[in-house]
Amino acid sequence: MHTYEALPGRVVFGAGVARTELAAEVDRLGARAVLLIASTRDAERVRALAAPLGDRVAATFTDVREHVPVATAEAARAAAAGADAVLAIGGGSTIGAAKAVALTTRLPVLAVPTTYAGSEVTPIWGLSEDGVKTTGVDLAVLPRTVVYDPELTVSLPEGLAAASALNAMAHCVEAFWAPRRNPVSSVIAEEAVRSLAAGLSGSGLAAATDLLRGAWLAGTAFAVAGSGLHHKLAHVLGGLGLPHARTHAVLLPHVLAFTAPGAPEAVERLGRALGTADPVAGLRALVAGTGVPGGLRALGLRADQLATVVERTAAVVPPDHPVPAGRAELTALVETAWEGE
Ligand code: NAD
Repeated sequence: MHTYEALPGRVVFGAGVARTELAAEVDRLGARAVLLIASTRDAERVRALAAPLGDRVAATFTDVREHVPVATAEAARAAAAGADAVLAIGGGSTIGAAKAVALTTRLPVLAVPTTYAGSEVTPIWGLSEDGVKTTGVDLAVLPRTVVYDPELTVSLPEGLAAASALNAMAHCVEAFWAPRRNPVSSVIAEEAVRSLAAGLSGSGLAAATDLLRGAWLAGTAFAVAGSGLHHKLAHVLGGLGLPHARTHAVLLPHVLAFTAPGAPEAVERLGRALGTADPVAGLRALVAGTGVPGGLRALGLRADQLATVVERTAAVVPPDHPVPAGRAELTALVETAWEGE
């Protein structure tokens, strides 16, 4: 049996559209008083992008933090007083802050992503407090409109771009075996792998366009297929303080090698998209070319934390993972991913 639930949302995609279409998209939402959320990293460009909105920008919130600490969410909600929409320009952390606002205020969100994290097409929110990350699902946090412009991601430093693209790759690879996978998510995920692989092998605006298109598709597949072992493991590691995108990037080849023997459809689709009979080797080669380290040890995970990672993951791993994933198997996987063999 399959179940499939399409998610609503409008997407505008193209080089330059953040410069040319943003004001029209704000109008389309009927917004007159927008809360703009963007970190100070690229303040000049954000100012230029928001300029056509004029006095429709009612307030600005810049104190963006990774994993949306509860205090950040509360400050952003206070800044939203009097606003009728939220405009987020930035990576997953910035879009996460906008989602936190939407969660309690129900304001519509317009997202302009500058990384390949994919949060803009999912109804998943996340908040963190005292080192514990909580996530939930609420359609109110799903952005109403997404403006995808590769001119904004082409400036990502190489290492960050690769890690973020591999974060997107994890969404689509896992969509092949995730709990709510379905024929629609699998088709989208396969095309996402193709687009991301092309982008990872290219350069300049053409590569950024392939990567962003791949990120859109990957996030779309992940949003309906849900989290499997890979995302559960990455979530546990994120809770221990590891960096989001790089953790996904390091983990992915290990989880694929672990899972592939029980997932023939994933192997077939990945092989087709990567143009190889051995997609595990194909993915390893793609990752190796990016300079992402081979093991979690290089990201700062300590040997004495491995048992905690196994315990926490064992408690949440979906019961229908394609290969046995009990404590013994997870221990072997986590140790291998830590060593980076
Ligand atoms: P991020 O938003 O924290 O950005 C990483 C770094 O890149 C930051 O320093 C940021 O300032 C910088 N940056 C962003 N865009 C840039 C650009 N175009 N050029 C140069 N630098 C740029 O990281 P992320 O990986 O995009 O997002 C991670 C967060 O998003 C995590 O909290 C994660 O849990 C969340 N997330 C949520 C979902 C979801 O569905 N809810 C999905 C994916 C990620």
